[in-house]
Amino acid sequence: MLIPKIGLEIHTEVKTKSKMFCSCPNTFESQPNRFICPVCTGQPGALPTINKQAVFLTLKLGLALGGKINYKTYFVRKNYYYPDLPKNYQISQYELPFVEGGIVKFFLDGKETEVFLKRIHLEEDAGRLIHFGDFSLIDFNRAGAPLIEIVTLPCLRTSEQAKMFAQELILILRYLNISEANPEKGQIRFEANISVGPNDELGTRVEVKNLNSLKSLKEAIDYEIERQINLIKKGEKVVQETRGWDEVKRITFVQREKEEAQDYRYFPEPDLVPLDLTGLELEREKLPFELRKELIEEYGLSYKESEILIWEPWALDFFKKTASSFQKNSEAIKQIFNYLTTDIFSLYQTYRENKVTPEDFKTLIDLNLKGKISSRIFKEILQKIFKGEKLNELLNIYQKITDPQEIEKILKDVIKENQSAVQDYKKGKINSFEFIIGQAMKMTSGKIDPNLARKVLKDLLDNL
Ligand SMILES: [Zn+2]
Repeated sequence: MLIPKIGLEIHTEVKTKSKMFCSCPNTFESQPNRFICPVCTGQPGALPTINKQAVFLTLKLGLALGGKINYKTYFVRKNYYYPDLPKNYQISQYELPFVEGGIVKFFLDGKETEVFLKRIHLEEDAGRLIHFGDFSLIDFNRAGAPLIEIVTLPCLRTSEQAKMFAQELILILRYLNISEANPEKGQIRFEANISVGPNDELGTRVEVKNLNSLKSLKEAIDYEIERQINLIKKGEKVVQETRGWDEVKRITFVQREKEEAQDYRYFPEPDLVPLDLTGLELEREKLPFELRKELIEEYGLSYKESEILIWEPWALDFFKKTASSFQKNSEAIKQIFNYLTTDIFSLYQTYRENKVTPEDFKTLIDLNLKGKISSRIFKEILQKIFKGEKLNELLNIYQKITDPQEIEKILKDVIKENQSAVQDYKKGKINSFEFIIGQAMKMTSGKIDPNLARKVLKDLLDNL
């Protein structure tokens, strides 16, 4: 039986202030060729310097994914010509990437799945060619921007696995604050190496480039698997080559024959000293996969519920800050999740930020659990907090007084000040009873529980 083997190569932009080897701003949302200098446009004699932040972020990713870190390494030149590559070589890594190995874990159909990484390295991006009919223009703003390349082993078997893996990787890059990794903005780009062969055997590898969305990634893999299986079944050979993806026709097409490593004539970058980061202490950060498990195992959320929070990091943080003090109280956790993912989510959409503090939310949940505010009042208070009102002031207005002793104290004051109404009641004027309750309501701005107040008042008047 022919089994597909898929490996992915992912390029992601890195969130740094400046470019990889010069001090030009690392930003592209401006006019073409605005952020360029002799270094990133490859002028003779211009010398590169290494961006420390980009190196740290690469190591942070490798550490979080459990890879082996090469603290001693160096950059190399990868030589090739292309109009968007002003130096005619790209500064990259080859024999000693910053990270070797590593595992990305994620859930596929509710089951834990693993994808094994081969390497993670750091390099610089090329510029951008913009084509107009019979001529093209070059924008070098992106040239020299830091780029992390992540390469998996050919351990994926289906397009769905590849898509879910890519999705998890995007989440990881966002959580570790390495990249926004938005495929639509070109901040993360995918390439797939696909072969089919009997059982564990790898077949002839075809590389599909320029996959700029998760949808294209999935469709291109499906198309390519089917194309290769059909060729083999017809007795034809799969050619080792690089293919592109036509988004309109939904087919892969030949771009060029695959280059071998020797075609790039790699050699150590002579303008940069080798790196020795031995002794550098970096803390390993938690991955979204672990945070998801924590939500399920420690807070009792379902997988689906955890998935809602994991894609909204602000909400996950807010949930944990509130829920940690109610950890064993499943009713409280349920309320926190529900008010957060319905009321606060919708208010967040309007105001573009969460204006409720975890402390205020905790107070409200607590009051709701004790029956001191109703669900309707809870929602009203949330809306008013988003409008800028203070919780303390709101509670003065909304919070019901339900303590019988406190009610008794209030009623005694009311009785003292309304002796004539008391006398009228004693003489049989029933209306006076409601008048006294009304006075008590007025005095407490309606916070007193009227039914409880009636009961207490009756006892008080009967014993006068
Ligand atoms: Zn520059």
